[in-house]
Amino acid sequence: MSDNQTDAPLFDIIMVCSPAMDTLTRAQRSERMRLVKSRGTTPELLVKRLLKSMRLKFNTHDASVPGSPDFVFRRQGKVIFVHGCFWHRHASCHNGRRLPKSRLDFWKIKLDKNRRRDLRILRQLNRLGWSYLVIWECQLNPPERIEKRIRVFLKKRGTN
Ligand SMILES: [Zn+2]
Repeated sequence: MSDNQTDAPLFDIIMVCSPAMDTLTRAQRSERMRLVKSRGTTPELLVKRLLKSMRLKFNTHDASVPGSPDFVFRRQGKVIFVHGCFWHRHASCHNGRRLPKSRLDFWKIKLDKNRRRDLRILRQLNRLGWSYLVIWECQLNPPERIEKRIRVFLKKRGTN
């Protein structure tokens, strides 16, 4: 089924329910921005909504792929991770270098373990021929930029 066929009934429903909306494209765009910018959401959920609004087909947390990536695009052989900067030690932002004030030794060991685990998974994916994209929490704004990065990543041929 083509996109146009999918859109037709939706267009009718929108026109009937809210005559104030002038075009579907505009309605869709504002809906997307509303979803993407809504508060109280995790970075992963935000990216999930973005991927859905881009009408991409993906699996989530596929345990058959090393590291159970947040989003798996099997056909393309690609995966996307969405990482929180603090937990996954984003090297180029403040949150990734931040350490809690108490129990410093405990946190250092724990966070370093996370970082090493991430690196090991990426190497493993690479060996198995998967391409990966890591999206950091601090890179989620504006969503338009992330959308562009995802499109470029999914189009690109070959490995990392
Ligand atoms: Zn960051």
